[in-house]
Amino acid sequence: MTTPDYSDTHRLFLQALISRRLMTEDAAIQLYAHVSPFDQDDFTDFINTVNDSLSSVELEIRRAQDEATGDKIVALTNTNEQKIAQVATGYSPLELEYFKHLLDAIVMADDELYCISSTAAVNEASKLKNKENKSLQLTKAAAEDLLTRFVHDKWLIKSKTGALSLSTRTLLELQSFLKEAYEEQVQECTLCMEIITKGQRCNVAACAARLHQHCAKTYFENMNNPACPSCRSPWDGKTLIGLAPNVEAPHTIRRR
Ligand SMILES: [Zn+2]
Ligand SMILES: [Zn+2]
Repeated sequence: MTTPDYSDTHRLFLQALISRRLMTEDAAIQLYAHVSPFDQDDFTDFINTVNDSLSSVELEIRRAQDEATGDKIVALTNTNEQKIAQVATGYSPLELEYFKHLLDAIVMADDELYCISSTAAVNEASKLKNKENKSLQLTKAAAEDLLTRFVHDKWLIKSKTGALSLSTRTLLELQSFLKEAYEEQVQECTLCMEIITKGQRCNVAACAARLHQHCAKTYFENMNNPACPSCRSPWDGKTLIGLAPNVEAPHTIRRR
C-alpha cells in the first residue's frame, strides 16, 4: 500500500501531537510505533497522510532541526499565520503586544546577536503604551511572570546566562510573519535555507553565508581546509551569529 488511508492510527498520533505541539523526531517515531504496532508504513508517508487531512484546517506537521541542539523535531504548525494572535493563543492583547515588542528587540538586536537579556526584556514592558487605560500597563512583576510563561510555552528560550532568544516553535510557527515583518534582518542558512538565528557566519563582512551548527558540521566533515560555501574564503567557524554559550546578553537593547 503506497498511499495509506487516514485511520484511527493517524488520529491518535495527531491527538498526542496537538497536546504537545512539538516533539523530537525520535519521540514522534516512538509514538508512531506505539499507536500502530502492526502497520509500519514509512514514517514520512504516515506524516504526509496526516498532513493531507489537515490542509483544510490550515494546520501542517513540519519537520525541522533545532538550531541550538541540532535535534530533529516534529511540530504541528498553523499554515495561515497572518497574525501572532492566531498562533499564540491563550494570551491577552496586552500580553501579545509585549511578545511582539520582545520579538522585535530580539530580531533587531545589534551584531546579529538575536537575543536580549532578561533585564532588558523586563525593561521593555515599560515601553508598552496604553494611553487610554493606565491599569492595562504591564508591571515589572507581571512582565517577569509573563517571560516565564513564554519560556514555559516554548515561544522563547532562556539560556543559562538569562539571554532570551527565539525557539524552534517560534521559528516554525511564525516563519511567514518573521520573514515579512523583518525582511532585512531575518536570514537563511546557506545550506538548508531555513531561518537562522544561531550558528556560524563567514569572516568576510560582505559575504552573506550563515550556517547552522549542525549544517556546518555535516558540510565541513570531510574537508581538510574548510572554505565558505559562498565566497570560498577560509572558514574557521569562530565568527558566530547569535550569542556564544555562557556569554551574557547586553542589558540595554541596541538595534541594528
Ligand atoms: Zn541550516
Ligand atoms: Zn563567505
